[in-house]
Amino acid sequence: MKIKTQIAMVLNLDKCIGCHTCSVTCKNVWTSRKGMEYAWWNNVETKPGPGYPKKWEDQDKYRGGWVRTKDGSTTLRLGNRPKVMSQLFSNPYLPQVSDYYEPFTFAFSSLKGKRRLKTPPSARPFSMITGKQMDKVKDGPNWEDDLAGTFDERKSDPNLNGIDTQGFEEFERTFMFYVPRLCEHCLHPACIPSCPSGAIYKRKDGVVLINQDRCRGWRQCVSACPYKKIYFNHQRMKSEKCVFCYPRIEDGQPTVCSETCVGRMRYLGVILYDAEKIDDYAAADERELVSRQREMILDPNDPTVIAEAERQGISHNYILAAQKSPTYKMMKEWAIAFPLHPEYRTLPMVWYVPAMSPKKEKLSEEEQKADSSNTTEMDYFAKVDDMRIPAQYFANLLTAGDPQPIRQALAKLVALRAFMRRKTVDGVEHPDVPEALGLSAEQYDDMYRLLAIANYEDRFVIPSAPKQQGSHHFDERTGLGFDDEEQNFVEGCKRHNLFAGR
Ligand code: SF4
Ligand code: SF4
Repeated sequence: MKIKTQIAMVLNLDKCIGCHTCSVTCKNVWTSRKGMEYAWWNNVETKPGPGYPKKWEDQDKYRGGWVRTKDGSTTLRLGNRPKVMSQLFSNPYLPQVSDYYEPFTFAFSSLKGKRRLKTPPSARPFSMITGKQMDKVKDGPNWEDDLAGTFDERKSDPNLNGIDTQGFEEFERTFMFYVPRLCEHCLHPACIPSCPSGAIYKRKDGVVLINQDRCRGWRQCVSACPYKKIYFNHQRMKSEKCVFCYPRIEDGQPTVCSETCVGRMRYLGVILYDAEKIDDYAAADERELVSRQREMILDPNDPTVIAEAERQGISHNYILAAQKSPTYKMMKEWAIAFPLHPEYRTLPMVWYVPAMSPKKEKLSEEEQKADSSNTTEMDYFAKVDDMRIPAQYFANLLTAGDPQPIRQALAKLVALRAFMRRKTVDGVEHPDVPEALGLSAEQYDDMYRLLAIANYEDRFVIPSAPKQQGSHHFDERTGLGFDDEEQNFVEGCKRHNLFAGR
């Protein structure tokens, strides 16, 4: 067992209000400079929809992530090393500016002036690439926001595969929810081995960074990242990506997107995992990818794990933080959070709790009364199946197509509401809990505290890092691997012949 640490994020989709505060604060802090006008390290998509860049989930188009080989290992979908090298100067799998959007601003200066006008002044849009006036703004990073546009455009979302979409174009029967996205700081990242210069690396705390001195702008990582979360800066000719606000993390503070989240739907915490299992679990059968990834996460309260972690030099404050980690609870203990597109096999570390949704059909008044009074005998799964967002949609997004784990998680959330209603409205001190869902009354209490009313210190449990893990990494580290002395990931990549040995 090789124990490693990771700062993981969980986003509770039920609480995202789509305000885009996270995206704007991230942009202000990290990408408000030349060459990054089009780039949103954090963006919020309305689903169903093609997303940003357009159709980023279409891996036939972009060739991101890993695929399983016949011998049961994994290889980059982009191709093996000779293939990657052969397309250095003409990579056909890169998103174009039009797949993102042409960044624009407005001529705000035209709004002020001494001249009196007969009509209110208007600020014309200008391209931030050419500097020329644009006739019309035709696209943006959240163009389908709040169901804007026609269903025909949203229909290109591959997560709708296998779902009967009839009726979804009608306002009364359609559905939508928000998915905030950022770099997943994966355990088996596709970006790292795709880089011909070895400029991308993973730190001890799990943050994936690009060494800007080593980056030569080959852009293979842009294709290889299946989440399209590496952006090329055409001014600096370097690739850039989310840095998980590492200077704040080192200081024990949450990322800017988490700190400023209006819905308080983001959680950050440490998880301990067994790095020896990475190769095996990334190559698991598609239906087992989520359960395997959960298996990889170790119980930080298990005395054997604690002793082994201490023996391997993991600092005590990291172990303590892992024991209090909100992300551990949601990812492993309660199993209500899921990785985004596990079938890309990158073992992502930003997980999502699926959103609840209203019933498909409006209830009559009598039905409403019966529905809210009948809290103890309700059939939780029937309620889940009656929700407007099909479980299959979440399954295509979060569990490689298997709706069962999603139904289980949503049933737990329905049961939680019933449990708390019995307790707070009916005054029943020890409400029955559905044993079939595998959670105790104490766990429902705990879940309620974390999901509904969590304070800042409950949502973000981040140990401050020892200084040597800090700022020098960005400039001085030599590249791939978890750290200099532990090269198992590097060796794994060499086995797959995926990057230039150094
Ligand atoms: S999500 Fe981040 S860590 Fe994962 S492959 Fe993409 S850039 Fe790399
Ligand atoms: S700030 Fe929070 S609530 Fe607002 S869009 Fe971002 S994740 Fe959602």
